[in-house]
Amino acid sequence: MPTASTSSAREILRGLHDVMASRSGAQAKLNKVVKIIAEAMASEVCSIYLLRDGCLELFATLGLNQSAVHVTKLALGEGLVGTIAEQVAVLNLDEASRHPEFAYRPETGEELFHSFAGVPIVRRERALGVLCVQHADPRPYDAVEIEALQTVAMVLAELIANAGLADKAAAAAAAARDASPARLAGLKLVVGMAKGQAVYHQPRVLIEHTVADDTEAERHRVYSAFRKMREQIDTMTSVAEFGTAGEHQEILQTYKMFAYDEGWSRRINEAIDSGLTAEAAIERVQQRTRMRMREINDPLLQERMHDLDDLANRLLRIVSGQLGTAAQMALPHDAILIARNLGPAELLEYDRRKLKGVILEEGSLTAHVTIVARAMGVPMLGRVRDVRRMIGEGDYVLLDTSDSAAFARPSAPIEDAFTAKLTTTQKRRAEFAALRDVPPVTKDGTRITVMVNAGLRDDVEALSAYGADGIGLFRTEFQFLVSATLPRRESQQRLYRSVLDAAGDKPVIFRTLDIGGDKALPYLEVGDAIEENPAMGWRALRLSLDRDVLMKAQARALLEAAGGRELSVMFPMISEAWEFDEARALVEGQRQWLADRRKLLPSHIRYGAMLEVPSLAEELDILLPKIDFLSIGTNDLTQFLFAADRSNPRLAERYDWLSPAILRFLRRIVLAAGEHEVPVAVCGEMGGRTLEAMALIGIGISRLSITPVAVGPIKAMIRSLDRARITPEINALLEKPPANMRAALSELAERNGVSIG
Ligand code: PEP
Ligand code: MG
Repeated sequence: MPTASTSSAREILRGLHDVMASRSGAQAKLNKVVKIIAEAMASEVCSIYLLRDGCLELFATLGLNQSAVHVTKLALGEGLVGTIAEQVAVLNLDEASRHPEFAYRPETGEELFHSFAGVPIVRRERALGVLCVQHADPRPYDAVEIEALQTVAMVLAELIANAGLADKAAAAAAAARDASPARLAGLKLVVGMAKGQAVYHQPRVLIEHTVADDTEAERHRVYSAFRKMREQIDTMTSVAEFGTAGEHQEILQTYKMFAYDEGWSRRINEAIDSGLTAEAAIERVQQRTRMRMREINDPLLQERMHDLDDLANRLLRIVSGQLGTAAQMALPHDAILIARNLGPAELLEYDRRKLKGVILEEGSLTAHVTIVARAMGVPMLGRVRDVRRMIGEGDYVLLDTSDSAAFARPSAPIEDAFTAKLTTTQKRRAEFAALRDVPPVTKDGTRITVMVNAGLRDDVEALSAYGADGIGLFRTEFQFLVSATLPRRESQQRLYRSVLDAAGDKPVIFRTLDIGGDKALPYLEVGDAIEENPAMGWRALRLSLDRDVLMKAQARALLEAAGGRELSVMFPMISEAWEFDEARALVEGQRQWLADRRKLLPSHIRYGAMLEVPSLAEELDILLPKIDFLSIGTNDLTQFLFAADRSNPRLAERYDWLSPAILRFLRRIVLAAGEHEVPVAVCGEMGGRTLEAMALIGIGISRLSITPVAVGPIKAMIRSLDRARITPEINALLEKPPANMRAALSELAERNGVSIG
C-alpha cells in the first residue's frame, strides 16, 4: 500500500525520469526539475543551490527572481542554505526569518515567502548542494513532504553527477572537506610510518541509477539480496568458532538482529514503492536512519549505527554485484588500508609492495592479523573510532603509529614534521642495520640468542637482512592461510626445504599447524560444533591429534624436507604432557615409515613444546625431561592467564605484559627449565619490545624469537644492558611489586642507561 510520501515522491520521480533521459542541457534540466517539484508539492518556490568554488550558488529556481540565478551565493555555513549544506541536515521552518542563521538576499525577492524547507543533496555522504521549497503561508512542511524532498534530492545527486555539474560541485565539496585536516588517535599495533591514499577494504558502492524503470524488478532484487545476506550472516555466526573475517561474535549478533529486522526491510520496500532502484532505496533508508541517529546523539546508538552501516553496505554490495574486497581491485601504489577489522588471511591477500599501512577500527596487539601485518612489515594502527567517517576513500593519509596517530588530509606543517621524523627514523634504522653483524651481547658478557618469527618463504630473507641467529618460530599455518585450498604434502615439503636452504646453518624451529581460533581455514571442514570460545576450543595440537591425517602429512613433509640435516619441530598449545608424547609419537611414526622405505632422514630431530597454556606449567617436572627445548608463547599465555581474549579490542589495553602476574609466572618457568637444563625461549610478541625484553632478560631468559624489524632495537638494548646489575633490581621489584610495574621498569632502565628507544 503506497503511503502519502511514496505517492508524492513517485509522482515527482516519474517526471524526473523523463528529464534525466532527455537530451537537453544541464541548466535546462535543472529548470525543468524545479518546476516539476514545485508543481507536485504545490509549492510557490522551489530552488536548487549547488556548491561551486566553495560557495552555494543558486542554479535554478521557480518562484524567486530569475535574475538571482548564478548571482546569489552563500558561503558554507551562511544563511539557511549554507547551514543545511554544512551540517548535511534538514531545515523545516514555518517562519524562515526567525531562524538565527537567516540571511536575507534582496535580489531573490524571497521576502514574500515565510515557510521554508530545505534538504541537502548528498553524494558520498557529502552535500553537493541544497534543494529547498518555500511558501507564502507561515506553516511548516509535514514529514511526508520532507521525506519526498529527500528522496528527490537523492535522485538529483545522480542527475547532477551525470549532467557534468557534479565534477565541479563534487570537487568543491571535496575541497571543502579537504581543507579540514584531521588527527585520528588509536592504538599502536605495528610500529612504523607510512603515507598514501586511503583505500577501503570493502569499497563503498557508488550508486549509479536512482530512478527505477521497473519497480517490481527492483523489489525482487532487494528481496533476493536480503535472503543472501541473511544466509551469509547465519553462516558467519555458525562458523564464528573460527572468527571468520575477524568479526567478533557480538558484532555478528547485532548484524543478525538487523538482518532480520522487518522494519528495515519494510522501509526499503517503501522507498522502492516511491520509484527508487534497489540500491537507491537502501541508501535512502540509510541516510534517513543516519540523520535520526545523529539527532538522538547517544553514543551507544551511534555504535549500533556503525553496525547497521556495515550491513547496509553489505546489502548494497550484494544487490549491485560489487562483491570483492579492495585486494581484488587495482590498488594504488601507496595504499593505506581502512577497515573495521580483518582476518589474517584477508590481509595476506594484499599485494605487499603496494600496501603501505593499515588503519583498523578494532584490532588488538596479539590478534593474528596484527602478527601478520608485523611479519609483512606494514605499520598498523588499531582502535581508531570513526575512521570511516573521518577518512574518505582516496584521501591522503599520513600514518605514524609510533605516535599512535594518523593524519587525514594533513596541512603542510604537519606533513613537513612527518617528513622530518621519517628522515630521523630512517637514520635510526640505518644505525640498527649497522648492528646486523654485531652480536647481541650484554655489557657483562652474556650472549643472548636473538631469532626471528617467520611464516612465509620471503620472511627468511630477514635472517640475513637483520642479522638474526635463526628462526625461533616458523608458523607453518601461514602457508595454509594464504592458500585457497589445502596445501598438498609436496608443496609443504617444498616450502620447508626452501626455508632450510635459505637459512643455511642457522637453526629453524618449525611449529606444527596452529589453526583454529582466529586462524580460520575456509576450505577445512571442522565439523558442526559451534564453539563459543574458539581460542580455547578445538585448535592447534588438539585438532591436529584428532585429525591426524593432516598432521601426518605435515610431519612427513618436514622429515623429507630436512633429509640429511637437523630438524627442530615444536608443538603448539600443549596443555598436558601426554599431548607432547602423542605428537612426538606421531612424528616418530612417520620417521619409521620413511626409514622402512630407506628414505633420507634428518640427521637428528629436536623436539620442543610451546608453553602457552598455563596448566602445562604445573606439569613441567613431567614434561621437561622429555623435551629438547621449550618456547613460551606469551600471546596465548597472556590471554589464558588473564582470561582475556587476545583478539577482543575492548581488552586490548587492559592488561600489561609487564604485570607481576606474567613476570612471576615466567620466572618460575625459567627456573624449572634451568634445573632440567632445557633451553627456554620466548617467542610471543612481548619479546620484540625493548622494555619487555629487558625484563625478560632480567628474569633469566636468554633466547628470544621476535618480529624481524625488532631485531635492531632489541640488539641495541641488549648491548646497553648490564644483566648482572638489573637482575637483582628486577627480582626486588617482583618481590614487592609497585603499583605501576611499567613505570618502575622504565625508571630502572633509565637509571641503568638501558637503551629503550
Ligand atoms: C603465542 O601464542 O605467543 C605464539 C607465539 O603463537 P601464536 O601467536 O601464533 O599463537
Ligand atoms: Mg600461540
